[in-house]
Amino acid sequence: LYVEHPLGPGQSVPLTREQAHYLFGVMRLTVGAPVALFNGRDGEWLARVAEAGKRGGVLDCVEQTAPLRMPPDLWLLFAPIKKARTDFIVEKAAEMGAARIVPVQTDFTNAERVRRDRLQAHAVEAAEQCGGTFVPEVADLVRLDRLLADWPEDRRLMFCDEALAGASRALGAAGGKWAILIGPEGGFSDAERARLGALPFAHPVSLGPRILRADTAAVAAMTVWQQALGD
Ligand code: SAM
Repeated sequence: LYVEHPLGPGQSVPLTREQAHYLFGVMRLTVGAPVALFNGRDGEWLARVAEAGKRGGVLDCVEQTAPLRMPPDLWLLFAPIKKARTDFIVEKAAEMGAARIVPVQTDFTNAERVRRDRLQAHAVEAAEQCGGTFVPEVADLVRLDRLLADWPEDRRLMFCDEALAGASRALGAAGGKWAILIGPEGGFSDAERARLGALPFAHPVSLGPRILRADTAAVAAMTVWQQALGD
């Protein structure tokens, strides 16, 4: 279970109404029952139910069962598409260990805004489901040109473009900070392609000769990256 509260020896963790409903109404846990907790900062903890009510409750931390496992320093940048597919990308990025998820507005992106809180909740659920102890941060929608203007010098960019078949640049040796960029349904504009292709920190990458849907491309790109550079 994901909680906001700090976890540690002697910590008592108050539950929200929704968490109490889930643990005591749906899962039927009673006082003394074990619950695995994480908050994205303090690793995984075994806790026991100390108080169980309809509208709330308290869990007492017992012992740490796993340390915080930091994912590789990988960002996933993607142009938001239809709601369900955007949810899918966020969920899979969190499962595959992205450290930060950034929705990006490109020339051919239709979305004007994203529901950051909803996407963040998907990232929490995905981290819960795959037993991660870390929750990636979902950033606000940002324009691609602004993002590139403020680009940190020490981060390399795996720029995925279906127009690059046979022209990929190798990713090089493992380690370092990375970002993966996936375009929208309409792909990148010529101006974006020219700009991205000329960046010294960009590694243009093809994911094969077929044009993949953006959500498929996001998963494929993270797999390629993990295989080449992940731990
Ligand atoms: N412009 C394309 C079109 O309409 O023909 C489609 C773009 S594709 C649906 C969405 C994004 O997925 C692309 O911008 C790219 O980042 C990524 N992508 C899809 N297939 C790819 C491939 N074979 N290699 C690299 N990237 C790919």
